[in-house]
Amino acid sequence: MADKRVSDDPRPLGSFARPEPRQENPDVPGTRTCLHCGGDRLTRIRMRTPSGRDAVFVACGACERTAWFDVAGTGVPLTADQVGGLGV
Ligand SMILES: [Zn+2]
Repeated sequence: MADKRVSDDPRPLGSFARPEPRQENPDVPGTRTCLHCGGDRLTRIRMRTPSGRDAVFVACGACERTAWFDVAGTGVPLTADQVGGLGV
């Protein structure tokens, strides 16, 4: 006759489904859809690369690939060399 209480945490574990904060610059080329799987549930974070470029870091919610795009770029992802600071 134990009173079982189920923990009712509304947040799923490891969720990537959190609503994205509005970004100031949604129109950087290459950041609309995932280059790898074509998914459009991307997390975009505007920041500066370790090498000093203004860029957008993109993480795909579907395949978890990540990439960097220069804000003034043409949709071609930056190479690890261009991003810099990653020990390559
Ligand atoms: Zn993807």
